[in-house]
Amino acid sequence: MLNDSPGTCLRSAELRQRAQLRTPGGVHSNVRLSGAQDFIQRAKGAWLYSVDGRDFVDYLLGQGPNFLGHAPEAVVNAVFEACRNGVIFGGQHELEVQASELVCRTVGWAEMVRFGVSGTEAVQAALRLARAATGRTKVLRFEGHYHGWLDNVLTSPRDGHWGTASAGQLESHLDDFVVVPWNDPVQVAETLEQHRIAAVIMEPLMINAGVIEPKPGYLEEVRRLCTEFGAVLIFDEVISGFRLGLGGAAERYGVTPDLATYGKALAGGFPVSALVGRSELMSRFGTGEVNHSGTFNSSVMATAAVTAALTSLLEDPPYERIAKHSRSLIVGLRDLGVEFGLPLRVQGVPAAFHVSFGDADVSDYRSLQQLDLARYERLAKSLVEHGIWVTGRGVWYVSASHGGDELDAALTRFEAALRDGAG
Ligand code: PLP
Repeated sequence: MLNDSPGTCLRSAELRQRAQLRTPGGVHSNVRLSGAQDFIQRAKGAWLYSVDGRDFVDYLLGQGPNFLGHAPEAVVNAVFEACRNGVIFGGQHELEVQASELVCRTVGWAEMVRFGVSGTEAVQAALRLARAATGRTKVLRFEGHYHGWLDNVLTSPRDGHWGTASAGQLESHLDDFVVVPWNDPVQVAETLEQHRIAAVIMEPLMINAGVIEPKPGYLEEVRRLCTEFGAVLIFDEVISGFRLGLGGAAERYGVTPDLATYGKALAGGFPVSALVGRSELMSRFGTGEVNHSGTFNSSVMATAAVTAALTSLLEDPPYERIAKHSRSLIVGLRDLGVEFGLPLRVQGVPAAFHVSFGDADVSDYRSLQQLDLARYERLAKSLVEHGIWVTGRGVWYVSASHGGDELDAALTRFEAALRDGAG
């Protein structure tokens, strides 16, 4: 497949101009402000096709949701079929019962579920529930972990502490959070001793910052400490859920939280999130003691999509295929790094890995900063120009639709970018 040079993206340029007149920054999510300039016309499998006739092998997957590939037939058909009989009822329906049963069965340890629309909301529901159950307010969280864009969880490093990340965001909304480096059990123990902590929330695999795995024994120790100090352990599996395996990070690392949040890979690309947990905690929503609401929660579209996506994953688990693709891709990228004399560095797991430059020993957000992240950002721009859809954050996602053709295309295009001087 041949791509034109980016200079010929006339239709994208025209659409971008129009978008900027009616939409701040021309985008509807600030995450996309620094993204690619091409407008997408359609997507199928592991490929995106732009309005200018260019194609991209996709390793962004819409920031993660297209785990089954773009427009998976089974999910899209199930949603269309279901929606012919109504889209939202303001009442209960059988599809949501089926989807709830399937989520609990697939996660394994979960007894109850509440659906929402975004990962951000699921996190908020989890925090409220933990505070209600413990009668405490403070929450322990970790440097570099992302839990959504709302005032109480959006944070970035500034002046030696983790403060607000946006104008208009009140610093006081972050007051009830204690932020410590991840992967250090001593910091968790000390915080739990010093404060009355309602919940400990983390990405059990820190995908948002470097795709860093927990050190052996770390999650087990945090689990033990939470139990000892009566804090609710929340795994934010919005990215890792169903992606690392049917049981997500909890299954991969063999540690069970009290609550977990899911999104992204849950519904074949459709906007659905879920909060799951044991009945003892979750039933507080059911008595009305803890409020959790949402007009669009458990819509026909959402629940049909969840059932179809999880059924696909259960009937044809893609995890081995993904691992095979990833292994070859990572070896290929590393070989190209060596060939071109670049300190290219890849770390993570098959379904999500991080590409950067440097050779630091990375185990948390601080050590991640020792890598040359800006250099990768520049490379990413060139990769998009050469037909590989990634962002400058360095996280590559692999879907169930990535196979041999995509591997060849990715490596050929990566090499072409390096030959053109990128990196
Ligand atoms: N939690 C994690 C770990 C995430 O990565 C994200 C989004 O990337 C969220 C929560 C928020 O999810 P959403 O963007 O669907 O609101």
